[in-house]
Amino acid sequence: MRLSFDHDLVEAAYLALGPRRDPAREAIYEIGDPSARDAAFCYHVSEWFRAAGLEKRVRDAFAEWPMVIGACQEAVVRRVKNPADEMAELFRGGEGVARVGVGIRSARIADGTFVGFLRHELCHIHDMIDPAFGYPGPGAAGAGIEGSLHRERYGLLWDIVIDGRLGRRFPEDGGFAAALGRHQKALERGFGFLPEAEREGLFAALAAEDAPHHDRLWEIASDPRRRGAESGARMPGGACPVCGFTTFEWAESEAVAGAAKAIATEFPEWSSEEGCCGRCAELYAAVAGASVPATVLLPTRGGRATWGRVA
Ligand SMILES: [Zn+2]
Ligand SMILES: [Zn+2]
Repeated sequence: MRLSFDHDLVEAAYLALGPRRDPAREAIYEIGDPSARDAAFCYHVSEWFRAAGLEKRVRDAFAEWPMVIGACQEAVVRRVKNPADEMAELFRGGEGVARVGVGIRSARIADGTFVGFLRHELCHIHDMIDPAFGYPGPGAAGAGIEGSLHRERYGLLWDIVIDGRLGRRFPEDGGFAAALGRHQKALERGFGFLPEAEREGLFAALAAEDAPHHDRLWEIASDPRRRGAESGARMPGGACPVCGFTTFEWAESEAVAGAAKAIATEFPEWSSEEGCCGRCAELYAAVAGASVPATVLLPTRGGRATWGRVA
């Protein structure tokens, strides 16, 4: 597997960790020809990146996932600025040729958190490739609003089975246990419709799971009980009967009315007296307007991928 780094990332790492005084770099300023000078700078920081052992540490992180290495011809690690863009994506070309793209903030190189980050992200890619996980092919997952809401919950469940496994595999890294703590809080919000004991049991089972399967996670993510619980009550912190997420912002009845037709199309058993959260009202009103596909409004990850991740 060919591994390459975005020059931006290497340079940011150099600026953060490189030597304060670097006579070899200063000498490069003497080169008159601008493109030769740029090339020399580029070469200089790449050499530093290698000599500082950073390239090897990234390569070692990939080496922990033989299935990923075996399936992918190429991995490209590039710099992103927004934490929401930090993720690994799998691109499948024809004839089983696959590539991995990893977006990472340069601060992670500087503070060393890139190792734990890569372990988590590459575990996603490993699962996508592993036939035992059963990740669906292109276009298989739900594409509408309903699918997108399931995807958010699915992503959370997937993260739990990932960080649980990583915590056992790399016990010296406390980051995975900390992440599990955050996921448990998120599970309380996203699965507020489940009885507390069931939710705790679900969390414990997922965190201990060593052989997760896509279908099972998707089934939990699309639990039909998310409707109904506390519906009609419109309590702050209650579950929205449409998306199932805890909400503190119930939609005003006018907004519900504007979205009702579109909601009823997807949820025939829903009635406008049940209400919905502000976010659902906005989304479904936009669908009713029909000029923008609903999925465009939803937070998505990795929309560029020819075969992006479900979550
Ligand atoms: Zn994740
Ligand atoms: Zn909602």
